[in-house]
Amino acid sequence: MMRCRPFRYHAPRTVAEAAKILRGEGPDAMVLAGGTDVIPNLKRKQFAPRTLVALRRIGELRTASDDGLTLGAATTLDAIARHAALPEAHRAARIAASKVATPQIRNRGTIGGNLCLDTRCTYYDQSAEWRQAIDFCKKAPGPHGTAIETPVEQGICWVAPGSPRCWAVSSTDAAPALIALGAEVTLVSADGERTIPLTDLYADDGMAFLTKKRDELLTAVRLPAAVEGWRSTYWKLRRRGAFDFPILGVGAALKLDAGGTVEAARVVLGAVASRPLPVDTSGLVGGPLSDEAIDAFAAKAAGPAKPLDNTDFTLHWRKRVVRAWVAGALRELRGDDSEEASLLSRSAARIPEPLSV
Ligand SMILES: Cc1cc2nc3c(=O)[nH]c(=O)nc-3n(C[C@H](O)[C@H](O)[C@H](O)COP(=O)(O)OP(=O)(O)OC[C@H]3O[C@@H](n4cnc5c(N)ncnc54)[C@H](O)[C@@H]3O)c2cc1C
Ligand code: SF4
Repeated sequence: MMRCRPFRYHAPRTVAEAAKILRGEGPDAMVLAGGTDVIPNLKRKQFAPRTLVALRRIGELRTASDDGLTLGAATTLDAIARHAALPEAHRAARIAASKVATPQIRNRGTIGGNLCLDTRCTYYDQSAEWRQAIDFCKKAPGPHGTAIETPVEQGICWVAPGSPRCWAVSSTDAAPALIALGAEVTLVSADGERTIPLTDLYADDGMAFLTKKRDELLTAVRLPAAVEGWRSTYWKLRRRGAFDFPILGVGAALKLDAGGTVEAARVVLGAVASRPLPVDTSGLVGGPLSDEAIDAFAAKAAGPAKPLDNTDFTLHWRKRVVRAWVAGALRELRGDDSEEASLLSRSAARIPEPLSV
């Protein structure tokens, strides 16, 4: 049986109290929301905080604003997947939440935990004994791992041995969808509160993948008011439809005018870098969503995606599938039949039948 190392447990009742504990405990403390990522990681000894600060008693983190657009960080993924007050233009948020893991995990896992999810790698998401057999790696260079988000100069990267950084993969489903929707997040510490665009929460490094300070609590996610003409979707590729992490996620939102011209667009790739990767959409804006425009944009979008040999499937195939998946998401937003768009993308990427979207 894998056991966690001993830790102190706090369950404050308010955000202010939680912020005070996080400030007092410093780097030894870690936030515990649904625990669906933290607890397995503690058992694998990927990190070993001395203190866990649980959010489960903080009611204010589970509330939504009257317009349904501000969600407390402890809102469960299941609640978001069923969030009827979310406008249709923001359906990418519902789709992404509904595609995380299993019903049990979505019932427990929260949106805050999903957005702060640890990055993943074949050489890291293993038991302490497995990792010891390869002499560990940079992200968790000892038998008790390291404090999450703390860059260290020790150890080797087995994916890119000469590399000074870690290439572990951002695997959150919600982030690419919410960034595409233009979401913001609120962070609270003992010093006060700040709100930043969700995209600015991330940095492209598998160890220091969040820009928030260690003692900052993510308290809420805010989506913009829905504007006429916007539509959105989230496409996920995974090995098993029942419950796998994404091999690729595509969050896409765009605004079409009455004549079908693209007025604005945001496309964000998940699981192809250490952060959710926004794609430059300038080539798409100002023209119609023709097949030619979609294909040209999708080919360009695949350029910056840099899947490495540290998750499921071969990196060459994963790179190729980006193009097909981006094109499929845009065809769906154009109004094509989504089944047909999916079949076309599958055949373009030569995806074998059992693989799931
Ligand atoms: C079998 C399995 C399959 C999974 N599949 C998927 C998948 O397909 N897609 C996917 O995206 N995820 C997947 N997950 C990961 C995880 O279940 C989800 O991402 C979930 O949303 C995490 O939320 P949580 O509340 O359980 O987070 P926790 O495990 O409690 O926390 C996760 C991280 O976020 C930090 N944190 C949590 N809340 C806050 C906050 N409010 N402020 C600051 N930091 C915070 C924690 O300190 C920790 O670092 C899977 C997990 C398992 C075990
Ligand atoms: S990318 Fe390299 S350093 Fe990062 S977890 Fe994987 S092996 Fe370790």
